[in-house]
Amino acid sequence: MSTDSLPQTPSATTTPLHLPSDQDASGRTFGWQELAFLRQVLDSGVLTSTKGQFVKQLESSFASMIGAKHVIACSSGTAAVHAAVAAIDPEPGDEIITTSITDMGALTPILYQGAIPVFADVDPHTYNVTAESIRAVISDRTRAIIVTHLFGNPCEMEPITQLAKSRGIPIIEDCAQAFLSSHQDQYVGTLGSIGCFSLQQGKHITTGEGGLVVTNDDDIARRLFLFINKAWGYGDEQPDHYFLALNYRMSELQGAVAAAQLGRLQSVVGSRIRSAIELSNKLDGIRGLATPFVSERIVHTYWKYCLNVDERVIRGGAPALGQLLKDRGIACAPRYIQKPAFECEIFRDQRTFGNSRFPFNLARPAAVDYSPEKFSGTYTALSHVLVLPWNERFEDRHVDFIADAIIDSVAELTK
Ligand SMILES: *Cc1c(COP(=O)(O)O)cnc(C)c1O
Repeated sequence: MSTDSLPQTPSATTTPLHLPSDQDASGRTFGWQELAFLRQVLDSGVLTSTKGQFVKQLESSFASMIGAKHVIACSSGTAAVHAAVAAIDPEPGDEIITTSITDMGALTPILYQGAIPVFADVDPHTYNVTAESIRAVISDRTRAIIVTHLFGNPCEMEPITQLAKSRGIPIIEDCAQAFLSSHQDQYVGTLGSIGCFSLQQGKHITTGEGGLVVTNDDDIARRLFLFINKAWGYGDEQPDHYFLALNYRMSELQGAVAAAQLGRLQSVVGSRIRSAIELSNKLDGIRGLATPFVSERIVHTYWKYCLNVDERVIRGGAPALGQLLKDRGIACAPRYIQKPAFECEIFRDQRTFGNSRFPFNLARPAAVDYSPEKFSGTYTALSHVLVLPWNERFEDRHVDFIADAIIDSVAELTK
C-alpha cells in the first residue's frame, strides 16, 4: 500500500501518546521478585496455602502495613465481601445497607447469604454514601452497613461511624479500590469491623484474581477464616465442618505474586497521588469542570481519576467531553457504570434461586423500592462523572498530554 500521496504532518498536539494501562504490561509491574517467589513455590511443590508460606507471608505483611490484627487472603474481592457478610451471619431477609454505585461483586454475596441489599444514595460530588443517605434507609432489620471508598476516595467516616455505633450496627468497608487510602491518619479497612480488598487485574496491585479480608476482632477473624476454608476447623482438636461455607482460598502461586506486589504498593500509591495532584493543579479554575474532591485529613489513592462535568457550562457534558478525549486517544468512561446497580436484571427481575426469588421474597417493600426520586444523588453522579483510568506509570509527559487534551476539548465545547 502506498502512502506516498498522504501528507505526513504529525504534530506534537495530535500524535496520540500511548498511556500506560492496568490491562497489560504497559501499566503493570512484575519483575524478578515475583518470578523468584513463583519459582520458590514451584520448586517446593506446595501450591496450596493450607501448607505453604507465601499466602501466610502476604497476610502478615499486609496486616503490619495497614495496622490490622488479622488479614485473611482469599480468591477474589467478591470472596472477601462474601466472607465479611457471612461473618456477620445475617438471618434470611435481614438487610445490609450498601451503595448504588459499585461492582456487582460487592452485592451478589449479600444475596447468597440470604440478606437483602438496601441501597443508600450517594453524594453527587464524592460518589460515596454518607451518614444522611445511610440514615434514610436504616431499619430495625439492618444487620450491617457496607461503605465503599469509591475510586480510592474514603467515605466521610466520622458521622457514619457515630451513626453505626449509636445503632449497634457493624461497618464493612469495601476497600477494593482504596489500597492505602486513609482517613484521619488511619488506613481504610481498619475503620470498621471488617475491611475487604481486591487483587484483581485492574486494582492498585494484582495477582490476576485475589482478595484480602481484614479485621481487628478475634471472633470475626475466626469466622472469616472458616468461611474461606469450607468451615473446616484446621488445628482444632476435633475438627469438623462447622457451617455452610465454600473453598475461597488463594493459592500459593497467587500468594507469591501478591507478596511481591505488596512490596510495590507504597510506591504505586505514591506515584498515583503525585500525578493526580499534578493534573488537578493543571486543571484548576476551568469553568464547568471539577477535579476530584478531597476533604481534609483524607488520603485519596486515585484508583481512577474522576472529573465532574457541568453540562450547563460544557456543551454536551461528560459524554461530549469523553468523546473528544477518546478521539485524542485517551480512554475514559462517562458514567463509570451504565446504570445504578439496582437497575440491573438481577435486582429488577429478582432472579436468584429457581423461581423462589429468595431472599427478595422476604423483603420489606421499602427495602426493595428503587424509585428514582430516592436516588437523585446517584443519577446526578452518573450523569456528571467522567472517569479517567489512572496509573502509577504516568510520567509528566502523560499528565501533560491528558491535561492539554482536556483543556483543548473543554475550550471546543464552550466556544
Ligand atoms: C473490584 C471490586 C470488587 C470485586 O472484586 P473482584 O476481585 O473483582 O471480585 C468489589 N467491590 C468493588 C468496589 C470493586 O471495585
